[in-house]
Amino acid sequence: MTKAVFIDRDGVVLNNANHYYIFRIEDVELVEGIVENLKRIQDKGYKLFLVTNQGGISKGLYTMDDVEKVHRKMQELLAVHGVEIVEIAVCPHHDKVEKCLCRKPAPLMIEKLIAKYKIDISQSYFIGDSENDMLAAERAWIRGIRIVANQNMGASVKEL
Ligand SMILES: [Mg+2]
Ligand SMILES: [Zn+2]
Repeated sequence: MTKAVFIDRDGVVLNNANHYYIFRIEDVELVEGIVENLKRIQDKGYKLFLVTNQGGISKGLYTMDDVEKVHRKMQELLAVHGVEIVEIAVCPHHDKVEKCLCRKPAPLMIEKLIAKYKIDISQSYFIGDSENDMLAAERAWIRGIRIVANQNMGASVKEL
């Protein structure tokens, strides 16, 4: 069976220290060390997935098209080093505008990927920088690893 590492986007892969919402390609900046860390994890046989809340879409601050452009840019930067994010799950909703079943801490986005790719949850992890990430992981029966936002995760993911 496939083992996977699910990863939060903002503060983990993309540096959001200077912009809470990242929706312009010029704001796409990788967190220090992320390429090396993801490459190492991928080389150990884990498939990589991103699971991200983008409530700014619900709030009308930007569109799914903006998010997809950001993702293309991010994937390009990672692909240069051979890192492949297999799929990116996006929740475009925000509680203040519209309720949904997918926004983390709900586990639905993770569960859909688990089903689609036949992921072995006992061998998989979720790496995030927030309490909601850890709750979503727990509810999907995945081990959560909480890292410090926008910092090199290397020391925190040694078990991987
Ligand atoms: Mg985050
Ligand atoms: Zn949602």
